[in-house]
Amino acid sequence: MTSTFLNDTHDPALQSWVPGANEADNGFPIQNLPFAVARRRDSQEDFRVMVGIGPYALDLGLLACETPWHGKAAHALAACAHPALNPLMALGQDYWSALRAALSQDLRSGSSAESRLRALLIERDHLEYALPMQIGDYTDFYISIHHATAVGKQFRPDAPLLPNYKWVPIGYHGRASSIGVSGQQFPRPLGQTRPPEGQDQPGFGPCQRLDFELEMGIVIGQGNPAGHRIPIGQAQQHVFGLCLLNDWSARDLQAWEYQPLGPFLAKNFASTISPWIVTLEALAPFRRGFSRPETDPQPLPYLQDADNQQSGVLDVELEVYLSTEQSRHQGQPAALLSRSNFKEAYWTVSQLVAHHTVNGCNLQTGDLLGTGTLSGPGKGQEGSLLEMNQGGKNPIELPWGEQRTFLLDQDEIILKARCRKEGYPTLSFGECAGRVLPALV
Ligand code: MN
Repeated sequence: MTSTFLNDTHDPALQSWVPGANEADNGFPIQNLPFAVARRRDSQEDFRVMVGIGPYALDLGLLACETPWHGKAAHALAACAHPALNPLMALGQDYWSALRAALSQDLRSGSSAESRLRALLIERDHLEYALPMQIGDYTDFYISIHHATAVGKQFRPDAPLLPNYKWVPIGYHGRASSIGVSGQQFPRPLGQTRPPEGQDQPGFGPCQRLDFELEMGIVIGQGNPAGHRIPIGQAQQHVFGLCLLNDWSARDLQAWEYQPLGPFLAKNFASTISPWIVTLEALAPFRRGFSRPETDPQPLPYLQDADNQQSGVLDVELEVYLSTEQSRHQGQPAALLSRSNFKEAYWTVSQLVAHHTVNGCNLQTGDLLGTGTLSGPGKGQEGSLLEMNQGGKNPIELPWGEQRTFLLDQDEIILKARCRKEGYPTLSFGECAGRVLPALV
């Protein structure tokens, strides 16, 4: 069984007995069933695994005490009695699929489980979230050719893309300790900046060019032993699901520190992920074929196979919103800054997993792979302020009269994602929100 195949949990006609779950575009229909780790807000309860359905979450930590199922689904449910998804993710795809199938059965209209499960529903609005998994390692890629080209142009107008870009998925190792869940607030980072014109000594102080990066996070379910690569044909079985990721970036710190070893303190002060992990299995109806323009090189053999060619691409619509202290004070809705789509990326999820392990590097349960900034080709599709303001030159206008070149204190960035297609219920990834606080000087 692989997660690219459709099964009866994807039937667009399925309805749930959960109130609100069948409403058009609610984002959490019975075909989605994403996972999070949460508890009632302001309670002292333990965090536990929950699955999203309509405006509710089903408490799998409590359901696990009732041992309602047998076989792999029961085993998978028992692994949900923990304050993180890692034990479930470590079991592997057959168990994730069995759990999804059992949940889909019991949440369907007419299910005899309704009376038992009803008591285990909590309104999602009443939840507070923990990180969905313990993240051992975080790797960030750079797979949007539109982002790489737009940023490259600012430094090398004649040759924006470096010669390796179309051959090797570019990435670097990030830091896991500062990854937080949606709602994360962090002080503006301090650091060194390039010496001002005519001076020898670098500047030092609060970052003046703070940016966001619109990314998706790829959550590794089962890893691989060190020294053994994951072939592209098996890559999807190792991926539990996807979330949103904001890879906050201090552009002025980055410009001074990044050569010769790459990003460091400009990137590792905070990264924010969404609480809900949408499983790769739930995304099966939104797969697309992978192809390269005829003028581009074909991927090396270890980065391609028939499955990837036929269905390696995921169609996920992405949005970035900004609210400020002023807009919230005035009761204005957050401003839409850009829209793009994961399907525009140059490399697929399977290619990233195959590439990451081709040298024998061992991925582990709970590892997070960032896609890199997911910009589209056009205006209004930029995944960072650096692209919107053309390297800090042109501030953007906000609907309530303010301007922004880079982020100011109390600014909040909200990332959203959803999958839509004709004749199928919309799947939402929920939100990934984070706020910048004043620097601790
Ligand atoms: Mn990034």
